[in-house]
Amino acid sequence: MDEVSIHYLLTLAELALAPLTAALLLKVRAPYGRHYEAGWGPNVPSWIGWVLMECPATLLFAWVYFLGDFWRNRAPFLLFCIWQLHYVNRTFVFPLRLRSPDKPMPLAVLLSGVAFNCLNAYINGRHISHLHQYAEDWVFAPQVWVGLTIFFVGLSMNLKADNMLFHLRKGGETGYKIPRGWLFEYISCPNYFGEIIEWTGWAVASWSLPGLAFAVYSAGNLGCRALSHDQWYRATFSKYPSRRKALVPFLL
Ligand code: NDP
Repeated sequence: MDEVSIHYLLTLAELALAPLTAALLLKVRAPYGRHYEAGWGPNVPSWIGWVLMECPATLLFAWVYFLGDFWRNRAPFLLFCIWQLHYVNRTFVFPLRLRSPDKPMPLAVLLSGVAFNCLNAYINGRHISHLHQYAEDWVFAPQVWVGLTIFFVGLSMNLKADNMLFHLRKGGETGYKIPRGWLFEYISCPNYFGEIIEWTGWAVASWSLPGLAFAVYSAGNLGCRALSHDQWYRATFSKYPSRRKALVPFLL
């Protein structure tokens, strides 16, 4: 089988993983952060877990990208830069900002994240720099500007929401509080909403099946986790705002 066929099958596999992961997460809460439970085998401190889990999305993606024949072209390089803008933060900055960095993360969660990120880095990195040749003027195409706008709206929402969550804990606090203000008045998880918007923007800008697979996977994964967070908030805080939705303002 040639690489194009293998790459296509792997992309379809990621698309198929989206509903499978969502179905699983509706039954079992991914056991990290507030949903951590003992009994999932050995653990690592969560800051180390985040760095190792996200490394393939940054480093493997870069390696695959620079192996491609078209890495010097403008359009793939633009896509590469915005991908790395997100993932350098997620891999090397976000874990160092955690307020409870030593909280346990099961090795099983770390390894499943590594496996997904390897698959995702390969299908997306290889598509943009080698398997698809974007025209030199692709950077002026309407999809790119619409996609970039969506991406940056999502990125700013994700960063702002993560930042607000970090600031809920003062000093050595480790517990949870009801987030207030901004999009938190409408939804429990604006960081997840922003991330889904981001990858939708990347899918539009890259106009690719691997980009679509990642956006769909993020929606399934983070959508279900948002529902779990929302249920957890309601079970934990009797005064949790009743009209707040989980993920999408006024809808879900
Ligand atoms: P959470 O919202 O569960 O937590 C983010 C951080 O804020 C954690 O350090 C958490 O602490 C803290 N926090 C959250 N809520 C509160 C609260 N009410 N009071 C005090 N502290 C709080 O996000 P995740 O950890 O699941 O994800 C982190 C980032 O990674 C997000 O931006 C998400 O979008 C992204 N992500 C993307 C995925 C994808 O498929 N593309 C998959 C998973 C995550 P603690 O750790 O102690 O709970």
